[in-house]
Amino acid sequence: MNIPPESAAVVPEMREWRHHIHAHPETAFEETATAAFVADKLEAFGLEVHRGLAKTGVIGVLRNGGSDAIGLRADLDALHILERSGVPYASRSEGRMHACGHDGHTTMLLGAAQALARRKKVDGTVYFVFQPAEENEGGGRVMVEEGLFERFPMRAVYGMHNWPRLPAGSFAMRAGPLMGAYDIFEIVATGKGAHAAMAYTGKDPMLFVAHAITALQTIVARNLHPQDAGVVTVTQVHGGDTWNVIPQEVVLRGTVRTFKREVQDLIEERMRGIVAGVAATFDMTATVRYERRYPATVNSETETGYAIAAASAVVGAENVDTDPTPEMGSEDFAFMLQARPGCYVWLGAGRGPDTPNIHSPQYDFNDEVLSIGASYWVTLAEQQLAG
Ligand SMILES: [Zn+2]
Ligand SMILES: [Zn+2]
Repeated sequence: MNIPPESAAVVPEMREWRHHIHAHPETAFEETATAAFVADKLEAFGLEVHRGLAKTGVIGVLRNGGSDAIGLRADLDALHILERSGVPYASRSEGRMHACGHDGHTTMLLGAAQALARRKKVDGTVYFVFQPAEENEGGGRVMVEEGLFERFPMRAVYGMHNWPRLPAGSFAMRAGPLMGAYDIFEIVATGKGAHAAMAYTGKDPMLFVAHAITALQTIVARNLHPQDAGVVTVTQVHGGDTWNVIPQEVVLRGTVRTFKREVQDLIEERMRGIVAGVAATFDMTATVRYERRYPATVNSETETGYAIAAASAVVGAENVDTDPTPEMGSEDFAFMLQARPGCYVWLGAGRGPDTPNIHSPQYDFNDEVLSIGASYWVTLAEQQLAG
């Protein structure tokens, strides 16, 4: 392990910051106290600070010499989960919880900002990007739309997420897609309500549901190339109020995950075709609302090489997996990667096979990796802005 002394020195402080942020979780676009905490710290480190990008986003700017610039990004927001971690610094805001480790991400980027400001080794500009609303609300997209890359011109942008399913002291990243695109759909089938005992007088949308859910599963099984990846999951069925009435209408909702635009297009097209066909079979109507929320997170080739070099310098090349199996979870850093080349990495944070995963009410960020993540940022910035 190669931890710069300035990163090692800030570990006790980082633990304090992390526990403070963990105890005071704030959800999408409401991260006002967290943003103020971050901005105050950055100012104390002597950085130029910009507040209020994408409502609660914060940018810290470390300028030192050359004209080259890169961006390092962390996320500020928590989730709507009732915490059951049992830690002494557990959430004091009932129903909100830092269950994805964004408290750790924010802390590691703050720790890196302090270490880089003290070391003064970079020749160029580092933008520390603290974005709001990573979960569900696409704060990363809003930052890009509000001019992140015009106001803070950078050659490349880098992201990092703790990954409890990988052992602490390791990294994983790959060129190409690492996380999936996230789409949602809502299907409304409208038949004709009737007495349940006189079904012949109505048009039963429950039949539509039974056939449609089964038929939708044939898209991945029978329309996708076997080497392409896709997930179609129906997560909600709403319809019916009592035992003896055929309802007029039934609603299905769910999500689609893909890595490629062509696959995304194909799944949407087949979904519309299947829904129309099943509705026609049972002589009723059905509508599809299909919404593309987050694109796939796709790492660029060159910058992934830089990320591998930095991670290898910190934990050793033998602890860096450069070809992990991508996951179909999604990540709104994808919007930044659409605008600039860059790399998103997984920081191993596991404490053994029973480590609660992200989004679990038992989850807690692993403090043992604070110094590793912060050192990765420091090393990456100094390697990239070496003058
Ligand atoms: Zn999450
Ligand atoms: Zn997350």
